[in-house]
Amino acid sequence: MIFNSIRSKLTAWYVFVLATILVLFSALLYYFLSQRLYESVDNSLKVSANVVAKTALLKYSGAPPGLEFFFEQFLGFGNLNKFYRIYDESGNVGSRSRNIDASQFPLTQSAYANAVGGEVTYETFKVFETYPIRVITMPVMRNNVLVNLVQVGTSLEGVHETLRNLRIFLFTVVTATLMLTTLVGRFMARRALKPVAKITQTARAIAGGADLSKRIPVPEEQDEIGSLATTFNDMMDRLENSFSQMRQFGSDASHELRTPLTVLKGQSELTLSKARTTQEYQEVLSSNLEEINYMSRIIEDLFTLSKSDEGRIKLDLAPVDLSSIIVEVCKHGEVLAAEKNISIVVSYLEPARINGDAFRLRQMIWNLLHNGIKYTPPGGEVKISLQEKDDFAFLTVQDNGIGISENDLPFIFNRFYRADKARSRHDRGSGLGLSICKFIVESHKGEVQVESQLGVGTKFKVRLPKIPSPESQPRAKSPHPAVPNLEVSG
Ligand code: ADP
Repeated sequence: MIFNSIRSKLTAWYVFVLATILVLFSALLYYFLSQRLYESVDNSLKVSANVVAKTALLKYSGAPPGLEFFFEQFLGFGNLNKFYRIYDESGNVGSRSRNIDASQFPLTQSAYANAVGGEVTYETFKVFETYPIRVITMPVMRNNVLVNLVQVGTSLEGVHETLRNLRIFLFTVVTATLMLTTLVGRFMARRALKPVAKITQTARAIAGGADLSKRIPVPEEQDEIGSLATTFNDMMDRLENSFSQMRQFGSDASHELRTPLTVLKGQSELTLSKARTTQEYQEVLSSNLEEINYMSRIIEDLFTLSKSDEGRIKLDLAPVDLSSIIVEVCKHGEVLAAEKNISIVVSYLEPARINGDAFRLRQMIWNLLHNGIKYTPPGGEVKISLQEKDDFAFLTVQDNGIGISENDLPFIFNRFYRADKARSRHDRGSGLGLSICKFIVESHKGEVQVESQLGVGTKFKVRLPKIPSPESQPRAKSPHPAVPNLEVSG
């Protein structure tokens, strides 16, 4: 197909529009010019007829001596292009230029009738083979009575020649212009669309070779094509990023699940290899249950994260008081903390209402508190506080536990990242808890930060936007007197 490329379509439209404009313009020019030319012929005929009429007023029946000579010299009747005839009131020829035969153009009935009525008539006759002639028939009146008729004719050769030349000129100019614009248009369209061809080429190479690192060269000019190239490259950045994340995520997830599965398989095979006592079976089964619990935790967390990636987690937003969630979470944490002889201290607790999903907020606070308990040695302390300032609620969870090294700190929110790789299998986490915390905080338009020092402790700071409420007053400014029974010592 000729028009299956944008370049051809653009050129075709461009040429079509230009052709229409040029043809219309030429037609109008031709029309007005021909009108003017015919008008100027009629005007010059009228001038000549007036001069002849003045002479005719002398009312002679034959040509006065020297008259033809005068006309030939001054009105140009000598050449074959201009003729005159003078009739008497009855329409009989009285005088005529010498260059015309009486029969060559007639005095028509209508022209005579008009003349009797005192009106001028213009007519066109085809007398010669080549060009028609234009004739004016003018009455000569004296005291409102027709005394003579004057006819002056001229060949339209000049006008026709001029119009013919104009037609040739316009045709040549229009054709040449259209041919030139077709060539220039195609060239310009090709130049303008060159980056698009590059984009297609790159996209094809990416699709063919699945090489997501390829990028399109961005043209210097930031026009529509430039911004298309930039957008395409941005899209490729994001695609490449999420593909590599997916790949990493998949391999991490399978790795995480392979270990407990291997343990489960090994333990089961070993147990079944010979007869065991009931106690031995119980031990193996409880160890297996631990692995199964661990796997279900990972699968649960993975499910949450993959739903969050797909944007399938719909937050059930409603006004919630963070302080009441903290009280609830701390109560649950007490049991775990007590097992490890750790105190949970609520240092500040101001009511802070935010527009949030209570279930997800509880999950986030639990993850932080649980980590504090997990990574703090017995006898340690996990402090939690909630304060409000301006339009924000500030939540901190601080422990005096093992801390996180400077090298690990930037990565702890990454999926499956664990700083303390040597931790016993018994209390290992999935490595997904902080990623989930980050997702929950960010989906509430908040921010989470961490400060930590190895061997000293870790502090997580969460900032969440509050619901502005003028009547919300601080409940407690001093360490937790309003929340009894939260400090748990083992
Ligand atoms: P996990 O399930 O392993 O706890 P998280 O995503 O919750 O996974 O945390 C990632 C890593 O960050 C942990 O493995 C741990 O090394 C480190 N970490 C998190 N919280 C603390 C803390 N309070 N103290 C010390 N290290 C922590």
